[in-house]
Amino acid sequence: MTELTSALTAPEFFVYCPKCATPLVTKLVNGKPRRVCPGCSYVHYVDPKVAVGVLVVENGRLLLVRRAMNPRKGKWSIPAGFVDSGEDPQETAVREALEETNLEIVITGLEDVIFNDYGKSGEAGASIFIIYQAKLMGGQLQAGDDADDARFFDIQNLPELAFTSTDQVIKKLKAAKN
Ligand SMILES: [Zn+2]
Repeated sequence: MTELTSALTAPEFFVYCPKCATPLVTKLVNGKPRRVCPGCSYVHYVDPKVAVGVLVVENGRLLLVRRAMNPRKGKWSIPAGFVDSGEDPQETAVREALEETNLEIVITGLEDVIFNDYGKSGEAGASIFIIYQAKLMGGQLQAGDDADDARFFDIQNLPELAFTSTDQVIKKLKAAKN
């Protein structure tokens, strides 16, 4: 039996219809609870949040940034950020790397696509994380935006990482280098 409430597909903080301002109700639509408008039949579909990150490896050293903001402030992650509406995820990756490290990169391949089941953990973040491989093109390494430090680390000797999705990818990377 399907539950008639769901924080994921029918968030109750979504109160009014964005089209006609009628208070929304939760109803099953094709078997899933959704916020639905009794006035104009509008159905609110919650889209997954998508983020991209980049793996930049130079001479066995991986580019990491230290997070200046929560979640996981003070821990290290690969340069990453949310894909904006209407933005090519590859552009997001290049833009975030420049903002966080002041380095110019080009995307050379796709490393992985990871699903983070935040519905279960209750953590905020991207549910879909796209990780690209990238090559360094230029620029002077300097932390910026929501990173307060940016450095290359020996892949075999990395600091504590912020996200388990990054851990996963780096384990694979280490295994491939051995
Ligand atoms: Zn409506």
